[in-house]
Amino acid sequence: MSISHHKVVIIGTGPAGYTAAVYTSRANLSPVIFEGAQPGGQLTITTEVENFPGFKNGVMGPELMDEMRQQVLRFGTEIKSETILKVDLQQRPFHLTSDQGEYTADAVIIATGASAKWMGIGTDEKLSRSGGGVSACATCDGFFFRGKEIAVVGGGDTALEEAIYLTKFASKVNLIHRRDKLRASKAMQERALQNEKMAFCWNKVVEEILTSTQETPMGDQVEKIRALRMKDTVDGTISELPVDGLFVAIGHKPNTELFIGQLTMDENGYLVVEKGTSRTAIPGVFACGDVQDHVYRQAITAAGSGCMAGIDAERWLGEQGLAD
Ligand SMILES: Cc1cc2nc3c(=O)[nH]c(=O)nc-3n(C[C@H](O)[C@H](O)[C@H](O)COP(=O)(O)OP(=O)(O)OC[C@H]3O[C@@H](n4cnc5c(N)ncnc54)[C@H](O)[C@@H]3O)c2cc1C
Repeated sequence: MSISHHKVVIIGTGPAGYTAAVYTSRANLSPVIFEGAQPGGQLTITTEVENFPGFKNGVMGPELMDEMRQQVLRFGTEIKSETILKVDLQQRPFHLTSDQGEYTADAVIIATGASAKWMGIGTDEKLSRSGGGVSACATCDGFFFRGKEIAVVGGGDTALEEAIYLTKFASKVNLIHRRDKLRASKAMQERALQNEKMAFCWNKVVEEILTSTQETPMGDQVEKIRALRMKDTVDGTISELPVDGLFVAIGHKPNTELFIGQLTMDENGYLVVEKGTSRTAIPGVFACGDVQDHVYRQAITAAGSGCMAGIDAERWLGEQGLAD
């Protein structure tokens, strides 16, 4: 099998990868971008995106990602519908193996994203994709729940931060936790416990999301959450909590298995980059988007860091005499 060589290989076609492709293709570096199992990334599984600048009436996630795709094609980026299975970042040029071929690259930009962890009951993930009132991102979707009663599942710092943030919109936020103690820091716990809009469902797990068919303002019929059936982890009793929304805040998993043993990661598996840059510890390897960001996890920050990776890669290739 022949091995094709490229100056820049980008792994991932979310907002980070596509933005890196815009910058590197406009810098005449002829990037190749691999789209993997989720072409267009996480935004392809959501409905309305209201916080990406430039769309005053909002934009549907898949439509936004298709615009980005068309933009990179316009500048000559080559998109490959392949998944990278193996990388060797110890040899130069870097070596990549996909499910269909072998590649070498002078520079690699990693934009493989992250995935929200769901509760494992199936319906939570399904309803998050169909606009059914379930979400894993308070910053993205809190605004849709103004004046409504909602629930947040989780007990760590992120869950409490999301729950407190959601009290700005919701009439009441029920925090559901499987134990009678929170893992979150003392300071965060105090803020949550003092918040008048918060209620706590201790020792509870969600067994089932109960739904009803509702009509949208556009006249479409959608299945929407109406209540949660919860089980008590101590005495096994079942109870129902009527809610209009559910936020699952039990963590995210960065897509970094490929790089284990080759790149530095934090304790949760996120790639570590040099502060204020997209540079990893290996010169010529750059990371952008959710794969290196456990804090913001937004499309616009992913795109911003994709821009940084594109520029960092271009400058590094120039310094090595590999840009022409
Ligand atoms: C349901 C939902 C709703 C959201 N709503 C909003 C919102 O309203 N506003 C907002 O700003 N953010 C929102 N987000 C968050 C936003 O989608 C992410 O922050 C953003 O997509 C991250 O972009 P990324 O480019 O880092 O990675 P991702 O979008 O996660 O893309 C990762 C890409 O890498 C590819 N990939 C992974 N592994 C491989 C491999 N081995 N080989 C090849 N390719 C690979 C995948 O196929 C994919 O194309 C939402 C997220 C979800 C899940």
